Amino acid sequence: MREEEAIAALSKLRAIMDRHNNWRRRETINLIPSENVMSPLAEYFYLNDMMGRYAEGTIGKRYYQGVSLVDEAEQMLVDLMSSLFSSRFTDVRPISGTVANMAVYHSVAGLGEKIASLPTAAGGHISHNETGAPKAFGLRVSYLPWSQENFNVDVDAARRLIAEERPKLVLLGASLYLFPHPIKELADAAHEVGAVLMHDSAHVLGLIAGHQFPNPLELGADIMTSSTHKTFPGPQGGVIFTTREDLFKEIQRSVFPVMTSNYHLHRYASTIVTAIEMSTYGDEYAATVRSNAKALAEQLHANGLPVVAEEHGFTATHQVAMDVSKFGGGGPIAKALEDANIIVNKNMLPWDKSPVKPSGIRMGVQEMTRMGMGKGEMAAVAELIAKVVIKGVEPSKVKPEVVELRRGFTKVRYGFDLSTLGLNCPCLPLL
Ligand SMILES: *Cc1c(COP(=O)(O)O)cnc(C)c1O
Repeated sequence: MREEEAIAALSKLRAIMDRHNNWRRRETINLIPSENVMSPLAEYFYLNDMMGRYAEGTIGKRYYQGVSLVDEAEQMLVDLMSSLFSSRFTDVRPISGTVANMAVYHSVAGLGEKIASLPTAAGGHISHNETGAPKAFGLRVSYLPWSQENFNVDVDAARRLIAEERPKLVLLGASLYLFPHPIKELADAAHEVGAVLMHDSAHVLGLIAGHQFPNPLELGADIMTSSTHKTFPGPQGGVIFTTREDLFKEIQRSVFPVMTSNYHLHRYASTIVTAIEMSTYGDEYAATVRSNAKALAEQLHANGLPVVAEEHGFTATHQVAMDVSKFGGGGPIAKALEDANIIVNKNMLPWDKSPVKPSGIRMGVQEMTRMGMGKGEMAAVAELIAKVVIKGVEPSKVKPEVVELRRGFTKVRYGFDLSTLGLNCPCLPLL
């Protein structure tokens, strides 16, 4: 590339990034339930030299030199996460929730064996599903039965399935996750056939840290996997917790050398900041997330929108789901809302037959809660959504109102800013 061309390309990149940052941080109402924003201090620490280093192996037993401070950081993170989740054994090296799940599959199930999990329509993540991560190990997946009436796993039918199929691993936790799954009830059934019960807490980890969702490890789950960036507002990454030392040793050997080689070490510092923030402000954050989700659901319902699970109180998490099949389905509605700067997911609902035309919209309030929104703003958001979905107002006409509402909420709460450590430069710190 000639230098002028290079500079033109770099300018284009800068414009893309400036536009994206400004749009998603200042102009949109972000309601994707699997996303969040870090605090300013966590973002500050994200840019560090560990981004280019290796530390294959475990703390104190690395295959690389120059990692003594990586060891210190990883140990600090393990200790903080173990204490936050009352975990006996914690591996923070998986680089994502999917990689964490695969490490567990590899260590407890083995090639061609059977696991039991929820189908995607009922909220199961693609990494629980035969078309996703289990495919890498040729695992056979039996799907846990779902009760439409209870909007939850059908406990009796699931118990029977586990007894008959005798899977190696029973997997609870979900991506569409409105009410806690029956961990205690199914842990017994799993243990009776010698299976391991795992709870995937990717969506609800921040609610568990803030005591607004039951801790699966205290209810009989042998293993808990998670992402570190959904309701737990850290950098993108993964983590595995277990109550059993024998499983932990196997899991550590699956994380490395099987599933990873580098661990994206630069994220440790930001995950540490986030863990400290969650042990300081997590209870208040999680309680506000839940009350906001409830408020959003009630206000959407009051505006005539078809919010699911009314008979169960709509939600006990950060999520709210609507069945918009009579308004054209999840795809077109998600697009129309994006055109109004309201960012949501189209999503399958438990009664959907095909993933091609999902009937649902899935929303989460964790990010907007962190930006300081409360019940009053939830009512305003519900009205804006109703304008697009029910009243058929042009999305481009609603967009300025969305931008105006968002303008008042640009500062992250429940976390530390740079002044906490007397810092003021958001750049790579060199002496
Ligand atoms: C998001 C999600 C994952 C995957 O996490 P990544 O960090 O994106 O790999 C796994 N399980 C569930 C239930 C999820 O919702």
